[in-house]
Amino acid sequence: MRETSKPIVEKVAIIGAGPGGLATAIALREQGIDAHVYEKAREFRPIGAGVGLHPNGLRCLDAIKPGIVDTLKCSGCQVQRVTLKTSTGETITTYENPMMKKYGEATLTIWWWRLQQILASELPSDVIHLNYHCIGFEQNENSIITHFENGKTVAADLLIGADGVNSTVREILIGDGQPRYVGSMSWRAVVNYQEELLPDNEVILMKEEKSIVFLLNVGEGNMSWLARKLLPDSTLSSTFAEAKSRVLREFANWMEPVRELIAQTDPERILEGPICDRLPLKQWSYGRVTLLGDAAHPMTPAAGQGANTTFEDAYELAECLRNFPDLQTALANYDNRRIQRTAIIQTHSAEREQLYYQPLQQTNQQLQQKRENFENWMYDYDPKSESRLRYLPETVAL
Ligand SMILES: Cc1cc2nc3c(=O)[nH]c(=O)nc-3n(C[C@H](O)[C@H](O)[C@H](O)COP(=O)(O)OP(=O)(O)OC[C@H]3O[C@@H](n4cnc5c(N)ncnc54)[C@H](O)[C@@H]3O)c2cc1C
Repeated sequence: MRETSKPIVEKVAIIGAGPGGLATAIALREQGIDAHVYEKAREFRPIGAGVGLHPNGLRCLDAIKPGIVDTLKCSGCQVQRVTLKTSTGETITTYENPMMKKYGEATLTIWWWRLQQILASELPSDVIHLNYHCIGFEQNENSIITHFENGKTVAADLLIGADGVNSTVREILIGDGQPRYVGSMSWRAVVNYQEELLPDNEVILMKEEKSIVFLLNVGEGNMSWLARKLLPDSTLSSTFAEAKSRVLREFANWMEPVRELIAQTDPERILEGPICDRLPLKQWSYGRVTLLGDAAHPMTPAAGQGANTTFEDAYELAECLRNFPDLQTALANYDNRRIQRTAIIQTHSAEREQLYYQPLQQTNQQLQQKRENFENWMYDYDPKSESRLRYLPETVAL
């Protein structure tokens, strides 16, 4: 443990201004570390769709910057009910979202872009560098130099790869190739909120064999549709218009509001992508470089944990840099705290992705109890409690 309050690193370069990179920069700057974020995009644009933030992720964000969760709540929507329907619109069941009662925080659905904006607004504007596409780095005992496509280089004490599922930093560090396509394609967008389609504070999940659609209220007069379908072909459309025609074609037999919602959407707002993950790694940190978020542990969205585990990473990395006496020990402890937990959630998410497309089944009591134990372990993660660092109890392993 540390005996002095002087940070063990002075300057940190973070690659990627997604939720992970921005949250980490906030956490490190709170400690007086000169953290800068380098993002390949030339501007922040209103892109992305709805993201669900759960109690584990929200608690970590709140510990990183008290008050930020309240700001997010003012922008997004706190989910109170979940409705399950068929693709023809018949309601199968409606139930109260158990999150608040069980874990003390409701699920918060928010537009990815607003999440990015709110996190970015917590940082001085001169520490976010747009049009900085990382293409390489080299390290020695004293520093790490990062190279960017615009010809610039940056020297730092630590480089954090928070550059998403197709991470350049990971490719250079580990070189494990392309992410794994898990067999389903996704299309998502944000449109104007329509109360007749989606009651306030509700999430709707519609399903049929091989495809599902979510409707989320993301607040501030917007809602998000997310459509996924099991498809062997993961090729991306070559234009926005082509992507829109494709999703309309794939969901042609769905009930009217779904087709109508897709038809109303500006093609440039439709985000098309293959659902991918990677196999868990055994090590994330090498010398002066480490990984975080989707760059470290990309997972399918089935358990809604991508952004949430990323906020856990940001909190734990900052804590390790604060509490351990040198960089090597801090990063070893960061790996130790994060790899086992995220590997389990990655595996669970991959299994759950396939279950989405199977007919609803009655689960037996034993399996139900196992699932409940697992969810308690996942959502109970709390920066205020030392028990979050315990290894996974046998009873919980799925
Ligand atoms: C544009 C975008 C929209 C998304 N929308 C949604 C959504 O609507 N719903 C949802 O659930 N999840 C969404 N995600 C994924 C979700 O945000 C992540 O799974 C999760 O939050 C983990 O965040 P992250 O910061 O680790 O990675 P990401 O959110 O993927 O962010 C990575 C960032 O790194 C940047 N980057 C990548 N390579 C480089 C490079 N070489 N140099 C510099 N910068 C680089 C990317 O442009 C991006 O801003 C989106 C991701 C992106 C990039």
